[in-house]
Amino acid sequence: PYDVLVVGGGPAGASAAIYAARKGIRTGMVSERIGGQVMDTSAIENFISVKETEGPKLGASLEAHVNEYNVDVMNLQRAKNIERKDDYVELELENGAVLKSKTAILSTGARWRNIGVPGEEEFKNKGVAYCPHCDAPLFEGKHVAVIGGGNSGIEAAIDLAGVVKHVTVLEFAPELKADSILQERLNSLSNTTVITSAQTTEIIGDDTVKGINYKDRETDEMKHIELQGVFVQIGLVPNTEWLGNNIEQTKTGEIIVDKKGATNVPGIYAAGDCTDSAYKQIIISMGSGATAALGAFDYLIRQAPA
Ligand code: FAD
Repeated sequence: PYDVLVVGGGPAGASAAIYAARKGIRTGMVSERIGGQVMDTSAIENFISVKETEGPKLGASLEAHVNEYNVDVMNLQRAKNIERKDDYVELELENGAVLKSKTAILSTGARWRNIGVPGEEEFKNKGVAYCPHCDAPLFEGKHVAVIGGGNSGIEAAIDLAGVVKHVTVLEFAPELKADSILQERLNSLSNTTVITSAQTTEIIGDDTVKGINYKDRETDEMKHIELQGVFVQIGLVPNTEWLGNNIEQTKTGEIIVDKKGATNVPGIYAAGDCTDSAYKQIIISMGSGATAALGAFDYLIRQAPA
């Protein structure tokens, strides 16, 4: 059996695996795709101490760094169930294998919910963006839309308004769902517009985004706005469906962890975007991966010797 079995090979999982292996304990890492969301990213400018890098480049360095250590890497494998059984945690993979470990660190990340209209996939990283903390500076002086009028959409719009020329918020429902304090803040800004009852139908462009089409749901009229960027803010979904009810989660499926990254199940830890951490970023995921590995090590040294 492993001492620490990491599930997920993004920034959180890679960091957890390295921290665990550096303790000289038996470490495994199961991952569907090493690098995780980083592999879908173009420019990364907020990974502190690295002025600028690209997703696939950072993903390759994560993998190379993990390979410097004695980590049993099982890539292209999907986990489908985890359970605590007596002294061990058992992880079942989709290929039928069952792995045993004294502790596990869940770091299966998250995915942005897509709007699913023509142009969204085509213009990803070419004007269609999901993370204002990451990509706002790329749109300096430009007109952008934010799709989604919940808290994350309005926070994004306020954030973007400080950097870009103009922000138009498109909300599907007849009113915004964000907290009123955020709405008031948005309304106090001179370079923002809110359009409600707006159903986005298409993102258009050539090499990059040039505009957006939407249907006014009150009049059924089709409308067009010329702009250069679209931030989709309709939710970040944690990859935790596979856990069922075995591990305690928030109502949106984020794994609840304590200060050491521990879940409600003894010996099972979690880190990164799949947890209830307040913010979802590469540097934050790496920090919480390190925390979870140190937490798991702390747990191990407190167990009675076998
Ligand atoms: P992830 O990166 O999501 O990794 C999850 C890992 O788990 C992957 O290896 C995946 O294959 C694996 N996995 C999932 N389910 C299973 C399963 N059932 N079994 C086995 N393995 C599984 N952050 C920044 O700080 N700066 C940026 O500039 C930036 N830009 C971004 C741009 C885009 C387009 C996107 C999508 C995100 C961006 N982010 C950025 C956010 C950043 O990528 C995430 O916060 C970070 O990758 C989270 O790391 P993680 O390890 O928690 O999860």
